[in-house]
Amino acid sequence: MNLVLMGPPGAGKGTQAKKLYADYRLPQISTGDILREAVAAGTLLGKKAKPLMEAGKLVPDELIIGIVEQRLQKADCLGGFVLDGFPRTIPQAEALDQALERASRRIDAAVSLEVPIELLIERQSGRRSCPSCGTIYHVVYSPPKQQGQCDKDGAPLVQREDDKPKSARARQEVYAKQTAPVKAYYEKRGLLRTIDGVGSPERIYSEIRLALGK
Ligand code: AMP
Repeated sequence: MNLVLMGPPGAGKGTQAKKLYADYRLPQISTGDILREAVAAGTLLGKKAKPLMEAGKLVPDELIIGIVEQRLQKADCLGGFVLDGFPRTIPQAEALDQALERASRRIDAAVSLEVPIELLIERQSGRRSCPSCGTIYHVVYSPPKQQGQCDKDGAPLVQREDDKPKSARARQEVYAKQTAPVKAYYEKRGLLRTIDGVGSPERIYSEIRLALGK
């Protein structure tokens, strides 16, 4: 299954992608994670992306499209994948279709998680993650056993710079303007599956499975 997971920042894409990996071994291709790694490593891509990410803006299409194309050619993606945070613009969606078509592949479904804006902001502001293993927590909804410390490896949890209030709002606006239109792109092709993203991660996940016919 070749899936696109859509939804504004804080909708729970990362959490659901991890569940899909655990059940179906579909690798999670998170362009946000790829870019954060590039920033941490100080690569040219990272240097270009850093100021845009911190301001909550998108990095240019031409920077990200080639990276995703290359990633999808890797062996672990040949049996399916979950794209998390890509495509975020219509040109990205078109480039993705073209790249897959060249390899006689296609997107099977685009799952969109719908969450009201105020809840999104609350989820973003309380989100913490482990810098070493990537586990995601929320200070209220899924806190670690020891405050500020990862349950799995004890590393101090961090808050993403772009989850702080100013960038968080900017990212919601960018989603509404530039990414929400991508839903219509998939709807026209009969691929959009809209899911209520409010509630426990387990309930949302079972709705996703139902929508995918699993
Ligand atoms: P995310 O972790 O998916 O919320 O992404 C964090 C940030 O990385 C975004 O706010 C953008 O600055 C950048 N980013 C991630 N994916 C994309 C993409 N597909 N196109 C452009 N920018 C992206």
